[in-house]
Amino acid sequence: MKQKQLDELKDECKNCIACELGNTRTNIVFSDGNGNSAKAILIGEAPGENEDKTGIPFVGRAGKLLNEFLEKTGISRENDLYIINTVKCRPPKNRVPSDTEKKACEQYLLKQIEIVNPKILIFCGSTALKSFYTNKIPISKIRGEILELEIGGKIRKCIPIFHPSYLLRYHSLEEGSPRALMLKDLVKIKNLINDKK
Ligand code: SF4
Repeated sequence: MKQKQLDELKDECKNCIACELGNTRTNIVFSDGNGNSAKAILIGEAPGENEDKTGIPFVGRAGKLLNEFLEKTGISRENDLYIINTVKCRPPKNRVPSDTEKKACEQYLLKQIEIVNPKILIFCGSTALKSFYTNKIPISKIRGEILELEIGGKIRKCIPIFHPSYLLRYHSLEEGSPRALMLKDLVKIKNLINDKK
C-alpha cells in the first residue's frame, strides 16, 4: 500500500523541473530500501555522479562505506531503512544544493516521510540536519543525540549522524575517532529500530 503511494509520487517526480537541477540530471534519485515497513528513513544530502547514472542513492564510494557500517552494526539497508536525499536531482559538480533547490524539492521529501511514517529520521550529514534543524550547531557537536522535531505536523524522533563521505577522510577506529563515533551512533539507531515501543 505504502509502496504504491511512493511509486505514484516517484512517477510525478520523474518529470519535475521545479528547480534548475531538473535541467541537468540524468535520472531522478528517488529512494532505495523498504518503502513499506522501514523503521527508519535515512536522509542524505544529494545524488552524486554514480547516483545520477543509476537512479539509486548511496551507490558511490560513500555509499559503499555506508553499507560496510550498516553491516557492522546489523542494520539491514533493504529491510530496516528507506533511503532518500534532500533533493532528488544531482547538483552540478556535486555542489551542496541551494536553499531554493531544497525548498522546491521539499514537496517530495515531506510526502515520502508522511507515507513511510517511520519511528526515526536519520539526518546523514549537515545538509540533511540543516534542512530540518535551524539551530546553528555543527553536526560534530550534535551527532548521536535524539532530537524531537515537528516535521510535517507530527513530532518525530530524529538523530543526526556523520555523512559517510566525511568518513572517507579518516581511517582510524580508535575511540573518539569519526568512524568510531559513527559506529556508536548506528548501534544506537539499531537499538531504536529494535525497540518495541
Ligand atoms: S531537485 Fe527536486 S525540485 Fe528540483 S527538479 Fe529535481 S525533483 Fe524537481
